[in-house]
Amino acid sequence: MKTNPSRKTLVLNCGSSSVKYKVFEMPSERILAEGNLKRGAEQSFEDMLEEIFRIAGPDVDMTAHRVVHGADLFPASVLVTEEVMRRMESVSYLAPLHNPINLEGIRLAQRHYPSIPHAAVFDTSFHQTMPPTSYLYSIPYEYYERHKIRKYGFHGTSHRYVMGRASELMGMPADKLRLISCHIGNGVSVTAIRNGESYDTSMGLTPLAGVTMGTRSGNIDPAVIPYLERLEGIETDEVLRVLNHQSGLLGISGISNDIRDLLKIAKEGHERSQLALDLFVSKLHQYIGLYFARLNGADGIIFTAGVGENSPEIREKICQGLEFAGVYLDREANAAGSGERMISSAYSPCKVMVIPTNEEIVMARDAVELVENQPAWGTGRIAITV
Ligand code: AMP
Repeated sequence: MKTNPSRKTLVLNCGSSSVKYKVFEMPSERILAEGNLKRGAEQSFEDMLEEIFRIAGPDVDMTAHRVVHGADLFPASVLVTEEVMRRMESVSYLAPLHNPINLEGIRLAQRHYPSIPHAAVFDTSFHQTMPPTSYLYSIPYEYYERHKIRKYGFHGTSHRYVMGRASELMGMPADKLRLISCHIGNGVSVTAIRNGESYDTSMGLTPLAGVTMGTRSGNIDPAVIPYLERLEGIETDEVLRVLNHQSGLLGISGISNDIRDLLKIAKEGHERSQLALDLFVSKLHQYIGLYFARLNGADGIIFTAGVGENSPEIREKICQGLEFAGVYLDREANAAGSGERMISSAYSPCKVMVIPTNEEIVMARDAVELVENQPAWGTGRIAITV
């Protein structure tokens, strides 16, 4: 039997204020090193990456990079070539805060490790299966054709991972399941999954759309924007800053974007914190209800990411009012325990699961799979799978 050689895989998630990394031994998936470097005043992005490359060591066999926006050019992860870099650059305007720094991370890794393969894994890829009825905005079609203005969706790697785990937990193949995946962290997105594929998702052209988030507004009537410009005397960029950084839970409560703070202060009688929590749950309900309709019912609801994995109170509030759709929580299982588990009662027709997400392992597996399926690596003849 052929055994695959062990490969050291460096997974990088480069953001503007921090860089997260994990070094895996593959295929055993043993973690050799991990960390989250926050950018200090003194340290440049390049210095941070050099530090990570030092920690990872000279014997790295491949790297995998998170790229936020792949638009409609990347329905799957790819090995990076010059052509792939050009295509990624061509859609960077869709995520100006994220893509340039993701691409810079790839360039630095290529410079440091010139003779190994580098993979790009996109937040948008999983959602490329959405039908036009999900991804088109009801604006003149020419804008879609001319500028690619449509819904793309994000957190795709996370939704893909938890879908796989849910299928294991439920003992059913993913292509036989209708799932509603709730990624509730700093950013929040809800995805309707059908036949193992994303069918609809709450985020849009950018990660600002959808449900209420920590500091992001989620959906609002677009006419609010020119009103604010006029009434507050501010420019569009400033409105967008407010919608991204001063809205959501923070904007409504006036106190915090952290659910833990809000739960505590609300219990002490702070009304706007309670209002922020209630509104947060109500917007999640709207999308979950919508996806019950889009999927014609669901077999399971998944909770993942910081809040989804760790807040039994929020999970309970969300499930209250979903009994109509066959969602019955086991309150004890919800409150107790940690990690991956079923938290619906035994007779609940729709299962409810907590599944800690693991985007890094998906990235490392994708990189290994791409390298193993690309025997031409090293000869300069990599097929571009876009
Ligand atoms: P993420 O974006 O997935 O890293 O999630 C980060 C967010 O999860 C933080 O901003 C917190 O608000 C939230 N969080 C983490 N732990 C808890 C907890 N025990 N209860 C409620 N929220 C939590």
